[in-house]
Order: sequence, then structure tokens, then C-alpha cells
Amino acid sequence: MNTIQVLDIMPGTTVDGPGLRTSIYVAGCRHMCKGCHNPQSWDFNSGIPMTVDEIMERITEEDFNVTLTGGDPLWQASKILPLAKSIKEKGYTLWCYTGFTWEEILKSTELSKILPWIDVIVDGRFIEELRDTRLRFRGSSNQRIIDVQASLTKKELVIHIH
Ligand code: SF4
Repeated sequence: MNTIQVLDIMPGTTVDGPGLRTSIYVAGCRHMCKGCHNPQSWDFNSGIPMTVDEIMERITEEDFNVTLTGGDPLWQASKILPLAKSIKEKGYTLWCYTGFTWEEILKSTELSKILPWIDVIVDGRFIEELRDTRLRFRGSSNQRIIDVQASLTKKELVIHIH
């Protein structure tokens, strides 16, 4: 059965996008950013295995919009895809944090498959030298908050206004 290693599910978060959201912390990341907020999340085997149905049960119970974070959910884009579809089919907005840049995602067939199901991507590695605590919803100033659907339609990067 297709399971996703989940580190944590936090309902009612306010730091991973606008409003109250359910944040899903997906295990696993290979970007190894210096100063990463959570190096324990790099291990793909940490956390507990959950099916899409089990995760959806938690999401609908809380009924908040959703953010995928980690770790970096896009290292397992094909596993995450059915979850992203289910979240959107239920009518929630979906934000996704990833260490991959927008340009890297577009270049990759594997990664870009998930884009139709995501509203907003916060992209790029965390760069310690560019850390700025005044930034909302991102850790370093190289990271961008991207309106995915507008960017796909216009074929150029569109920053999300929140
Ligand atoms: S992408 Fe995020 S989780 Fe991965 S190493 Fe960088 S800061 Fe840490």
C-alpha cells in the first residue's frame, strides 16, 4: 500500500501560509541546507507511515486549508501526488514548501506533475546568510512565494499576493 512517512500533523498553524491551516510534515530531505530548522526531518524513514486516506481523515476532521512541509515533500512527489489531488478535490487550498527552486521543478517531469494540484509553492533552499526574521511565511530572502496556477497560465513566475 502507498504510504507516506509523516513526521507530524499540526492543525491550526498560522506560520505556514495565511489563515489557520493544517500543516503536514513529510519526512525526508536531501538538500542539507546549512542552518536547517529541522535536520531531524532529513531521514526518509522517520515519522510514521500513513495512507492518503488516513491523512485525509485528519485534514477533514480539522477542516482547515492545508500546507505540505517537512522535510521536503517534493523529494517524494509521486507519493504526494494522490494526497495533493485529494486535498484539492475536497476544496482546500494547498501550499507546499520545498527546497527545490521553481526553475528546477519546471525542468523535472517528475516534480512538475504535481503542479496542477498546488496553489502556492514557497521555493528554494534555506540560505543562512539570507535569513530574515521579518519575512512572512519564509525563512530566507531567496525563497519566493509563488502563485502556481497563475505562473503556469502566464508561463512566467508570478509572486503570490497574500
Ligand atoms: S529544504 Fe528545508 S528541510 Fe530540507 S535541508 Fe533545507 S531547510 Fe532543511
